[in-house]
Amino acid sequence: MLTLNTLTDTKIKKACGDVIFERALDYVSTGFLRNRLLYSRANKLTGIVEGNYGNYQTSFQYLQTGNLRTSCSCPAEMYFCKHAAALGITYLREPETFFDMNSQPPILEQKSQKELQNLLIQMIVKHPDSLTLLGIPGFEDEEEDENDEDDRQR
Ligand SMILES: [Zn+2]
Repeated sequence: MLTLNTLTDTKIKKACGDVIFERALDYVSTGFLRNRLLYSRANKLTGIVEGNYGNYQTSFQYLQTGNLRTSCSCPAEMYFCKHAAALGITYLREPETFFDMNSQPPILEQKSQKELQNLLIQMIVKHPDSLTLLGIPGFEDEEEDENDEDDRQR
């Protein structure tokens, strides 16, 4: 199984290109990249980047195929933007600055079903697009583009 332990600068640079990689360095390991979250079971990182024109929700995932999948709410219509690259590179530099969803002690396992339901409702009200995870149609976040290396190679 591929884990983030086998991710390298070279791998990221190959996927995003030299130019984007260089631009990403402005954000790497800085305060512009916050809410750093690791979901290790899916090899996925998420974060918020304070960009030039606003705050962007960014994600970076190392797929089992060895490809990288990124998404970002920034206006750059690029396959792999500098914000997503910065997220991955920052993880390589400072993994300890990411909050691990699989950390110990577990944050969800100790809650009752009722508490979990209340938490879910609060989260859905805050992020209505998460209703799509429950199979409710019509709440898709259309601004978010999922990008995948495979798409580009086709
Ligand atoms: Zn971006």
